[in-house]
Amino acid sequence: MIFYLASGNSHKVAELQTLARASALPVTIRSAKVVGGMPDVVEDAGTFAGNARKKAVALRALIPPDAWALADDSGVCVDALGGAPGVESAYYAGPQHDPVANLAKLAAVMRDVPEPKRGVQFRCVLLALGPGGEERVFEGECRGRLLREPRGRQGFGYDPLFVPEGFSASYAELGDAFKNTISHRSRAWVQLAEWVRGGC
Ligand code: IMP
Repeated sequence: MIFYLASGNSHKVAELQTLARASALPVTIRSAKVVGGMPDVVEDAGTFAGNARKKAVALRALIPPDAWALADDSGVCVDALGGAPGVESAYYAGPQHDPVANLAKLAAVMRDVPEPKRGVQFRCVLLALGPGGEERVFEGECRGRLLREPRGRQGFGYDPLFVPEGFSASYAELGDAFKNTISHRSRAWVQLAEWVRGGC
């Protein structure tokens, strides 16, 4: 089974390819780059699933007819901000989609929020869109808390601010191999893998 990943984010591609290899299934994840790159999509659906659907539909038009498009829409939902930035995580600091500016803005907005109110969850929706237009949606979440200052150099996006529940280091300090065991993306992937294992 071949999935073309409807994302221009090389970190998401790498994480999902690692998860696919680890699940030992006859599944290949291909980057959108191999079909000319991920088309621009306006992420205005207002939900992770809605945005994922828009991405999958846009890529479906470019991939071989018998392949599946797989979209990942994800973000960080902060309790003290009523779930923001959520679906707007990629452009929290503006339409330029600048991850460094997004991280700096979240750190600044949350700087004076006391420790007990720094709860947060990463959410991920994986949406698979098949050759006949059939659709499956898988969701994963990972709870944690936000640091006051970014720590660590690995990962991407908000990883340097996120400490998963039960740990004291950030994702960016713990590294991708660890992150892949508990992340929102890996939890959504586990469900997708069960669906594939069951014969789709
Ligand atoms: P989108 O799914 O392309 O709309 O963007 C997701 C946004 O959430 C980006 O700003 C990412 O940096 C952030 N994000 C999603 N997943 C992760 C993650 O695993 N680590 C850090 N940031 C993430």
